[in-house]
Amino acid sequence: MEWEVVIGLEIHAQLATRSKIFSGASTAYGAPPNTQACAVDLGLPGVLPVLNGEVVRMAAKFGLATHSTVARRSVFARKNYFYPDLPKGYQISQYELPIVHDGYLDIDLDDGSSKRIGITRAHLEEDAGKSLHEDFHGQTGIDLNRAGTPLLEIVSEPDIRSAREAVAYMKKIHALVRYLEICDGNMQEGSFRCDANVSLRPRGQEAFGTRTEIKNINSFRFVERAINYEIERQMDVLEGGGQVVQETRLYDADRDETRSMRTKEEANDYRYFPDPDLLPVELDQAFLDEVAASLPELPDARRARFVEQYGLSHHDAGVLTASREVAAYFEATVEAAGGEGKLSANWVTGELSGVLNKEGMDIGDSPVTPQMLGGLLLRIADGTISGKIAKQVFEAMWKGEGEADSIIEQRGLKQITDSGAIEKIVREVLEANPKQVEQYKGGQEKLLGFFVGQVMKATQGKANPGEVNRIIKRLLAD
Ligand code: ADP
Ligand code: MG
Repeated sequence: MEWEVVIGLEIHAQLATRSKIFSGASTAYGAPPNTQACAVDLGLPGVLPVLNGEVVRMAAKFGLATHSTVARRSVFARKNYFYPDLPKGYQISQYELPIVHDGYLDIDLDDGSSKRIGITRAHLEEDAGKSLHEDFHGQTGIDLNRAGTPLLEIVSEPDIRSAREAVAYMKKIHALVRYLEICDGNMQEGSFRCDANVSLRPRGQEAFGTRTEIKNINSFRFVERAINYEIERQMDVLEGGGQVVQETRLYDADRDETRSMRTKEEANDYRYFPDPDLLPVELDQAFLDEVAASLPELPDARRARFVEQYGLSHHDAGVLTASREVAAYFEATVEAAGGEGKLSANWVTGELSGVLNKEGMDIGDSPVTPQMLGGLLLRIADGTISGKIAKQVFEAMWKGEGEADSIIEQRGLKQITDSGAIEKIVREVLEANPKQVEQYKGGQEKLLGFFVGQVMKATQGKANPGEVNRIIKRLLAD
């Protein structure tokens, strides 16, 4: 039997407000437990929530950026359940009338094609507190600092067909919320996490199979692994003649497996009803126009512009716009390099990304600034140094030895372009290698590379490679 994988993601993006969604308490990460929870967050009797206007603006930005409908009227609802980290006994969320619905996002697939993933809805809600199981022996601590932190829950259509697609979708949403500056995207701190719903159906069958939901995955790598594990597990169950049980599962990264947490609750278990403490949110056209005008250039638009303006490939432009920081670094480099778009793209996606990856560093921490890299590229473009020597200079800049021009000067790396000087060295190389010269003249033309190598060795790589090639060929043709 051939199985088709069906996946829908629910992404929780923590909105980057300074205060909470319904109170004035701070949302700053890492404070001592329970120092940032006010009476509203603690759910004390008699308190009233007041909506933070900024979260509405942020949700509207997201809606406009994903071709969604931003609802003129949305309603907060109580989602009732009991848990120690939820002192009110309900979470304020949105249910029937979410603020954002019916949008989409296009993702890139591995084969270079693109695919549209539907966004069912994105609703506002408050986060719960946190249970601390490790800090007290035999007891559980409760930290309510996180209670009331604003979240945007982004729910996809079940349009995703593999773990790879799920990762591509999640990365694209991640980049987008950071472009929009509505979420810091910090996955270690839990500011961006996802639940993955996974099911299988026999290929060709229309009806979806029973799904499981894997909760709270907080890295791209884990999303891919957790989903793949779950696909294998369900396949084993189904091929063994069993049935998948609809349930919530946890991914254990240490063991690389998912484990059953609880059977899935249905919406009616939560007894949703409109929260009588909060008025419906009504938005007018003027507000939506203002939000639309405040949107920055979005990743897809920027990518198209990079292709157009700098003559980059669709792929390279995608890499360079995958994060706002990389895109800004690239454009600053182009400017410093006198408009050399392609060359800048090659170096940012090549040499620079390579060393950043190796060192596990973000582009913002690069010791080589865009101005420094641009300065180096100017010297490649004007023929002062070859691309190969430029790598040496780059390495020296990375180590803090200064700007490209001073390194080239100090190390005497200027390219030898004087053809008289190069010819002299070529003649010496040919005289020193009479056997190879004979073989070359006898038809072994691949020895050209050998002669070029010898000349480069003699000049420590400084001879202009084009010139060297020309001169060798000319002298050997005599
Ligand atoms: P709930 O609110 O119970 O989590 P929803 O119906 O809102 O459930 O769906 C949550 C997510 O699960 C959505 O992203 C949706 O696309 C996805 N989903 C729904 N049915 C399936 C299925 N059979 N297989 C995989 N994903 C599914
Ligand atoms: Mg769910």
